[in-house]
Amino acid sequence: VDPAPTVVHAFADAVRRAPDRTALAYFDGRLTYAEVDALSDSVAGHLAARGLERGDRVAIMLQNSPHFVLALLGAFKAGAVVVPVNPMYKSGEVGHVLHDAEVTALVCSDRAWEAYLRETAADSPVRIVLTACELDLQTRGDERVLNFARVTPEATDADDLVRVARAGHKTPDDREPAAADIALISYTSGTSGTPKGATNLHGNITYNAERQRTGLGLPEGATYFALAPLFHITGMVCELVASFANAGTLALAYRFEPGVVLDAFAEHRPAYTVGPSTAFMALAAQPQATREHFASFSSISSGGAPVPPALVEKFRDAFGPYIHNGYGLTECTAPCASVPPGVEAPVDPVSGTLAVGVPGPDSVVRIVDDLGDDVPFGEQGEIAVRGPQVVPGYWRRPDATAEAFPDGELRTGDIGFMDANGWLYVVDRKKDMINASGFKVWPREVEDVLYTHPAVREAAVVGIPDAYRGESVKAYVSLRPGADASPEELSAYCKERLAAYKYPREVEVLRELPKTASGKILRRELRSPAQA
Ligand code: ATP
Repeated sequence: VDPAPTVVHAFADAVRRAPDRTALAYFDGRLTYAEVDALSDSVAGHLAARGLERGDRVAIMLQNSPHFVLALLGAFKAGAVVVPVNPMYKSGEVGHVLHDAEVTALVCSDRAWEAYLRETAADSPVRIVLTACELDLQTRGDERVLNFARVTPEATDADDLVRVARAGHKTPDDREPAAADIALISYTSGTSGTPKGATNLHGNITYNAERQRTGLGLPEGATYFALAPLFHITGMVCELVASFANAGTLALAYRFEPGVVLDAFAEHRPAYTVGPSTAFMALAAQPQATREHFASFSSISSGGAPVPPALVEKFRDAFGPYIHNGYGLTECTAPCASVPPGVEAPVDPVSGTLAVGVPGPDSVVRIVDDLGDDVPFGEQGEIAVRGPQVVPGYWRRPDATAEAFPDGELRTGDIGFMDANGWLYVVDRKKDMINASGFKVWPREVEDVLYTHPAVREAAVVGIPDAYRGESVKAYVSLRPGADASPEELSAYCKERLAAYKYPREVEVLRELPKTASGKILRRELRSPAQA
C-alpha cells in the first residue's frame, strides 16, 4: 500500500492523471476533476482571505452532494481541519460540536441556517458562514434543484458556497497539509453515549482509502456510488477518498432514499458501493428492485454494522451480488478488517456469526482480556487494533484517549475472536451484553436467528429488567412489507433454535426500528424506559 500523504495530494494526483474525467455525478449534473479542482481552490482562497488560519476548524453540515466535496477540499486546501456534522443533528447536538471543536467556519444548508443554525451559531466561536442551497427530494425538477445539480454554469448568487467557488480565488501557497496533520475531527455516531471527536490524520485516511482501492482491484476511473453518508467515516474514506485515489467517478444522490438510490444505480451503473447492512435490507424491500438494478456491480461491501448471514444469502438469491462484510470504527478511520473481493466469509459453526474479514496487511489485531493480555487462541475477548489507520486519540480528551488507546493500541469495546485461518469474528459490543440469570447473552446471536425468519426485516435485541433473572431478553422487530408474524410465533421460532436462557421471552413488532444517521440500529433507544 503506497498512499498519497494527504487527501489534497490524492486529489491532485487524480487531477493530473484525468483532468477531464467526471469526478462527481449528481442526478443530471457532472463535474470533472479539473472543475472540482478550480472550484475548491476558490473556496480555499475565500476562506483564507476571510482570516481562516491553518489548523482552524471548518464544520461541514451537508448531505451527499457536490457542495460537500467542494467545501471539504476547499477547507483541506486552506490547511484547515474539517468537522463533519450530521445534517440531522438538532440545535443542542450541533452546539456541542461547534463549542467542543471550537469551530471557526460553518458550511450548512440555507434552510437549516434559517430554521435554527443562525441561533445556534450566534452563541459559538463560528465567525464565517457559507450557506448552500440543499436539494429537497420532494421538489426535484424545480429550478432550485437544477441550480443545485449544475454547480458550475447556472448557479445563482443565492448560494453562498457556489458563488464563492465560482469567484476564481486562488489557494494560498503556504497551506499544504502534511500526512501527520489532523484532517477530520469525527464525532462518533453516538450509539454508546456522548459524542467524542476522533482525530483522523490525513495519513490515516489516505492509507485506508488506498488499501480499499487496491483491495477492490477495479480499473482506474471506475464509478463508485456513495451509499453511506460522506459525513460518516465509511463514506468519507471508502467512497469519496478511495474514488479520488482511483481517479474515478463518484455518483451521489443527496441522502439514502431507497427508490432514488435504485434510480441512481440504473442511471450511473456503479461498479462498487458500501453501506450499512440496513441500507441493503431497505433496498431489498423495495417492490420495484430487480437484478437489473445491481447488474453493474463488481463488488458490494457492508461496513460499520453487523451483517446477518441470512441477509447475505437472501440478497444474493434475489439480486445477484454477494455482500462483503467489513469491520471498522471511526477510531480506525473506517475498516481494519474486510472480506477480500471474490472470497466468501465463513460462518462460525457454533455461534452462526458471519466473519467480518481478515485484518489488513499492516494492521495488528489482537484479542485481549481486561488486562490487555492475549487470550488463548479461538477464545473470546476484546478486539484491539494497531495500524496506520488508527487515530492518535480524541480531540482534547486526554482521559478518554488514555483509556481507549493504551500505548497507542485501540481497545475497540467490541468482543470478538479469531479462527485458525485468521478470520476475525465480532461477537457484539462489550456493553450490550445481556446478563440473564448470570448467563451471558449476546444480542447479535439472537438477532441473527430472527433474521432467518422470512417475515423479519429488521431485528434488535436488548436486555430489560427482570425481577427473577436480573435481565431478560427482549426483541424488537420490523416486518417485511406484506409479511405477517405474531410476537408469540417469533418468540417460539427462536426458542426452537436457541438455548432456553437466550430466546426472547418478549417480542414487540414496530413499524421501523430507530437508527443512527449512518443507518445503524440504535439498541440504546430501545432500552430507554420511554421505548421499552
Ligand atoms: P459510538 O462509538 O458512539 O458508540 P459507534 O460505535 O456506532 O458510535 P462507529 O465508529 O461508527 O460508531 O461504529 C463502530 C462500531 O460498529 C464497532 O465498534 C462495532 O461495534 C460496529 N461494527 C462495525 N462493523 C461491524 C461489523 N462488520 N460487524 C459487526 N459490528 C460492526
